[in-house]
Amino acid sequence: MTESRQEDAPRTGNAPGEPTTVLAGGQVLTPAGWVETDVTLSGGRIASVSSAGSRAVGSVIVEVGGLHVVPGLVDIQINGGFGHDFTQNPETIWDVGKRLPEHGVTAFLPTVITSPEEMITNAMGVMNEGPPGGYKGAIPIGLHLEGPLLSQIRSGTHDTRYLRSPTAVTTDAWSPEEGVRMVTLAPELPGALELIEALAEQGVVVSLGHSNATYDDALAGFQSGATVGTHLYNAMSALHHRDPGLVGALLAEREIVAEIIADGIHTHPAAVRIAWEAKKPDHLVLVTDAMAAMGMGRGRFVISSVDVLVDGTGPRNADGVLAGSALTMDQAIRNLIAFTDCSLGEAIATATANPARTIGDPGRGVLEEGARADITVLGPDLDVELTLVGGTITHRRPS
Ligand code: ZN
Repeated sequence: MTESRQEDAPRTGNAPGEPTTVLAGGQVLTPAGWVETDVTLSGGRIASVSSAGSRAVGSVIVEVGGLHVVPGLVDIQINGGFGHDFTQNPETIWDVGKRLPEHGVTAFLPTVITSPEEMITNAMGVMNEGPPGGYKGAIPIGLHLEGPLLSQIRSGTHDTRYLRSPTAVTTDAWSPEEGVRMVTLAPELPGALELIEALAEQGVVVSLGHSNATYDDALAGFQSGATVGTHLYNAMSALHHRDPGLVGALLAEREIVAEIIADGIHTHPAAVRIAWEAKKPDHLVLVTDAMAAMGMGRGRFVISSVDVLVDGTGPRNADGVLAGSALTMDQAIRNLIAFTDCSLGEAIATATANPARTIGDPGRGVLEEGARADITVLGPDLDVELTLVGGTITHRRPS
């Protein structure tokens, strides 16, 4: 990959002084499929996906021949990473955001798990304050509140002391305007269906999870406005052929999106393949559910109020229960391809267009004229070579 400034080609219409970057000659994943072409970025947006007249005078030309140019990855469930935990220290959203481009991520939903109510308020405060000056990194586009409205018996590693009934929590301020984009809850709890309706009305995406719902409970949740299931298979009522549970409901209902942690630990490769066959191509979403251990290797970490040990079997609490993952989005894509034999383009969509559509953000996750200039460039082995957020280079693989 080389970079130069175009000195001698004729100007082709970019406004004087407007910084323009051209990703030249890559294999570009457009909504119509792969095309070998140039992508011109200007003013934080994709100005064109075409080689015609792309090399204007003054443009910064980044040669990406032989590389895959894809939309920036979007992770809608991430609890922290690089030693930081968003529930305990929401101000570290920006520290983690600066490093997520190393894994191709350009937008994310910082996830706050079950904890005292002031933790949610603190995180909303951080979101509303916005980034520190000069921030360059992945964009947190709203919180994902995973708890406290969860089932006692499907709480996973969540601290059951802080679980709440939907009727006991004030949720009027949970809205995208106040920094809350998504809420995971258990639909079988008293008052849950009314709350799903209210949250959907407030513009919040409601996902069913950490739930012991029957199939009928799940359908009632969908009818009330829930559109997603949180980490399919994990912490939910399992599929029995006479009692399909939440797993069965998520697999059977075609219009409902299923998130999945495709690390081979939370989900067996065969279970991932079943999920792909049921939900492909538009209704499966890769998430990392990563916690502080992501990017750190083995050791001791914390998620919310819970101590976690990370060894070769993933992050686990003192009882051996999985407590988030150490997965990265680029690895999740490699795993999905290995587990399902889906195509690279299909796998990328589960980490870009599908999550963006799930959270109602159509300006992200696509590589077309007018979309945000959030772009990831992958090598042949799917290593992240280059990441741009809003047209600004935020990561470049060391050569
Ligand atoms: Zn969870």
